[in-house]
Amino acid sequence: MRLLVISNRLPYTLKIKDKKVDFKESAGGLVTGISSYLESMKSSSFTTMEHIWVGWPGSAVDQKYEERVKEKLSSELHAYPVFFPAEAMDKFYHGFCNDTIWPLFHCFPSYVSYDEEYWKSYKQVNESFFETVKKLLKPGDVVWVHDYHLMLLPKLIREHMPEALIGFFLHIPFPPYEIFRLLPKEWGVQILEGLLGCDMVGFHTNDYTQDYLRCVLRMLGYENDIGNVITGDRVVRVDTFPMGIHFDKYLKTAESGETRRISEELKGSLGGTKVVISVDRLDYTKGIKNRLEGYEMFLEKNPEWHKKVTLLLVVVPSRIGVKSYQRMKYNIDELVGRINGKFGDVAWTPIRYQYKHLPLDHVSAVYLTGDVSLVTPLRDGMNLVAKEYVASRADKTGVLILSDMAGAAKEMGEAIIINPNHKKEIADALLSALTMPPEEQVRRNSIMQERLRSYNVIRWVEDFVQTLQRMNNRRNEMEAKLLTGQAKTQVINGFKGADSKLVFLDYDGTLVPFYGSPGEAKPDEELTDLLKTFSAVPGTRLVLISGRKKEFLQKWFGMLKVDMVAEHGVWIKESGAEWQLIKPLTVDWKEKLRPYFERYVGRVPGSFIEDKEYSIAWHYRLADTELSSMRAKEFMDELMTITSNIGLKVVQGNKVVEVRNYGVDKGSAAARFLSKNKYDFIMGIGDDATDEDLFKALPQEAVSIRVGILPSYAKYNLKNPKDVRGFLKELVK
Ligand code: UDP
Repeated sequence: MRLLVISNRLPYTLKIKDKKVDFKESAGGLVTGISSYLESMKSSSFTTMEHIWVGWPGSAVDQKYEERVKEKLSSELHAYPVFFPAEAMDKFYHGFCNDTIWPLFHCFPSYVSYDEEYWKSYKQVNESFFETVKKLLKPGDVVWVHDYHLMLLPKLIREHMPEALIGFFLHIPFPPYEIFRLLPKEWGVQILEGLLGCDMVGFHTNDYTQDYLRCVLRMLGYENDIGNVITGDRVVRVDTFPMGIHFDKYLKTAESGETRRISEELKGSLGGTKVVISVDRLDYTKGIKNRLEGYEMFLEKNPEWHKKVTLLLVVVPSRIGVKSYQRMKYNIDELVGRINGKFGDVAWTPIRYQYKHLPLDHVSAVYLTGDVSLVTPLRDGMNLVAKEYVASRADKTGVLILSDMAGAAKEMGEAIIINPNHKKEIADALLSALTMPPEEQVRRNSIMQERLRSYNVIRWVEDFVQTLQRMNNRRNEMEAKLLTGQAKTQVINGFKGADSKLVFLDYDGTLVPFYGSPGEAKPDEELTDLLKTFSAVPGTRLVLISGRKKEFLQKWFGMLKVDMVAEHGVWIKESGAEWQLIKPLTVDWKEKLRPYFERYVGRVPGSFIEDKEYSIAWHYRLADTELSSMRAKEFMDELMTITSNIGLKVVQGNKVVEVRNYGVDKGSAAARFLSKNKYDFIMGIGDDATDEDLFKALPQEAVSIRVGILPSYAKYNLKNPKDVRGFLKELVK
């Protein structure tokens, strides 16, 4: 088996010096997680997994070096480069990724650029990735696409190789619908659909997962069943996988002699004060300004802490050259200067500030030095610094103050959780942290360390890849039920060899797809011709069995030699005879229930009532997807309560809620036909819950087929009405 990891950047930085191609590894959490997981698979399981990493090598490569870069990456580093011209990278990376998606997904709508050129470039780069992946992809590969740079890629891969197993993980937050919809609709829809090309989409927190599902429902109209989105003929799992860290690495580094030495030196330079640390990349999402203002308020309110505490502020340069980041840097410099000027003196500097990237042992020494770690992002997908700090505290002391807006807060409830927009909360939290008894610190950190140790980055990779593989098993199971190959041939032979055949066909969703309103789903010429041919096959009795009113069926199919069942079994018409009521039924209840139906029409704009002779239905296909789906559940509940004990049945079909007489359904109608004659071949095809009654009423040897890929009592599945028609054509060929 082979794992194709695809991310914008390869975990190697390219250097070309004196015509020599070289790479330096940049080991982030993801690389460590994936390589440790693959390593552990080698020793613990029978199957091993190779891997290839696909991505941009970190700088534009002159065409004359491309072959050498490719050769070195694939022969030595299990990697494969994607090349683009520098201009594409500018509009794609600095433009759409960092100037559109980054601020929007972090809920900073006023920072977002909506530039058509950026979007074009985003599509082009995703396509360039696809061109490269296409060359590498082999059947059986597991594809794992990472992050917001490549959200269109899964769909491109799916279209090229429908059977590929594809997962996607988003490392930043997914925004709420009200923010996501600010994107031009075409872009938003393509992004959502791009991701639905996967078998599984993963997020850091359940909030992001739910936000994505909500956007899918509102903008694409797909509902989900506990995270499983059914998109026509595929199921996409949407799930939460909070990314862990390499716990042992941080603990071990913190305990190393070199880290201790650097930490002692640092402590010495801070004059024995308590130390509050702050470590971030320079970014407006990180809330550095709020943090400084919170610290300022703490010093104002607690003069007894002057000269007894120092804030060690590490800011890592990021997106150098981008104007807004330069401005932010300038503002931070100014604020630090102001606070130091206001409270400090020659013997004490309240904030020690470093604007620099630190290597692992230095970051670890900072973690070791901090009595308190102050992490206050305004919005952050996860925040690894919070986790690394706790993991680095070998003696389990230290206090983490963590923003509720970081994904990590969902797993680290023992930290002091604050709202970063509220300076007073930051100031109060600092006082609580600095005065927290050591035994309480140890209690809290022990719990957090246990969690970080067990759900580390290796477990995270394992969890993601294994859940993805389970999706594959599920798909195989479903595909095994698809009426194809040998099973299909057998059914066709059974049909052709039989002297007497009885076939039940549902209409909406089976012979025609769903339309906005029931009136639009009229049979086309191809369908009427097909049914005519079908019913003319010698020895064949064809029954159209539908939830429609008898007038509709009569109008469109009355001229054919078919039997018909209307209103889900209420009315039966044998070919050449008149319509008959299946049994005496009541209707007086309809007027009593009507006000309830009317109330829901009022509450859900776009929904409407369909009056049938012996039932009443509320249709909501054209209404707001989210509101109607919620109201439908409410309405079902309400109707069940009102109709219990009065011989009525409440049924939810596809975007419709219907009440009808108890004991009448497609099953009882089918039983009528079955009791009349003996048949050598019996078959029923339908697409929704009401057809399950039909399937159950058929004898064991009958062929039952559910359209769509939901679990069913039926023996087989066909994907959609188009496939149903194709199959019927094969039967009569
Ligand atoms: N980091 C580092 N050197 C520094 C400061 C931070 O290597 O000087 C690392 C830190 O250990 C962490 C990562 O940068 O692994 C920051 O990850 P986080 O999720 O906190 O923030 P991001 O920058 O990804 O938004």
